Amino acid sequence: MNYPKSYISEAQQIIDERKNKNSAILDRRYEEIKSKLPLAKKYIEALAETIGRLAQLIISQDGDIKEKIKLLEQENLATQKALSEELVKNGYPEDYLDTIYTCKKCEDTGRVESTRCECFNSVIKQIAGRKLSEQMPIGLISFDTFDMKYYSDTPRTELKGKSAKFIMQQNFDYCKNYADDFHLPCDGIFMIGGTGLGKTHLSLSIAKVVIEKGFSVVYGSVPDLLRKIKEESFGQGDDDGEVLQTLKECDLLVLDDLGAEHESKYNISNLYEIINSRINNRKPIIVSTNFSVAEIRERYSDRIASRLLSMKCMVFSGDDIRMAIKQIK
Ligand SMILES: [Zn+2]
Repeated sequence: MNYPKSYISEAQQIIDERKNKNSAILDRRYEEIKSKLPLAKKYIEALAETIGRLAQLIISQDGDIKEKIKLLEQENLATQKALSEELVKNGYPEDYLDTIYTCKKCEDTGRVESTRCECFNSVIKQIAGRKLSEQMPIGLISFDTFDMKYYSDTPRTELKGKSAKFIMQQNFDYCKNYADDFHLPCDGIFMIGGTGLGKTHLSLSIAKVVIEKGFSVVYGSVPDLLRKIKEESFGQGDDDGEVLQTLKECDLLVLDDLGAEHESKYNISNLYEIINSRINNRKPIIVSTNFSVAEIRERYSDRIASRLLSMKCMVFSGDDIRMAIKQIK
């Protein structure tokens, strides 16, 4: 998959910033140790002089230079060891002054030998996900702002004697745990229920936590994402475009409002391709719909319906809470 050059340079910039940030942290640690531990300061200064001494030795060309370099190396190692011991003695970790890497594999260069490091590819995927999710209304939405008081605690026969509040608490807990424990591979969630019952709030809250953990996430309404695929595929050959590829490959895909899209063979086949590819690769999707299970079965082929219903199904029930919010306020 070839991503646009702008993504690659943005990714390189992010990797470089990581490196600079880590080096600034290390500088601050050195200053801290030098000001707090006088003995450690001496060791640090001795180590800093090593390179100068080595250069002098080489320039001087005197006598047994190899032997002298060897002695200098031994002295250097002994000083490093003494510095670590001094750190530990004073309650610091022994590697407190080691170079800090966000990715140890490539030492924050973004490359391992001549290929891109996994960390570089995951940054590119995050960028691609962000570009596709530009409309994500994440702002103030989070698990913390989800308010259970708008759900009724009256037991309802259609909920087998349980209240809407009870069901919502279960949904909330499941989503919160799902976000907190997010890992790959994992299964998806299928959220079913009328408008205004909190599906979007919970799926966005999950997306927010997962993004903060550094995973690549795409969030979008089904009609909007399908329109983007169509725009992109115009005039393109059989290869997947960037949009379709990102939808298949991002770490978490949140498809909001399934069923609101225009009913066409083209849309259904793209939807099937995305859902099928992700479920086969155990890449999670969170799908929300206002349709009932019967409507899903009627509108989509058995293939799509059975794939969707094979995920964790979460039913949202009750009255439109937007009405309740208006009444309470
Ligand atoms: Zn790396």
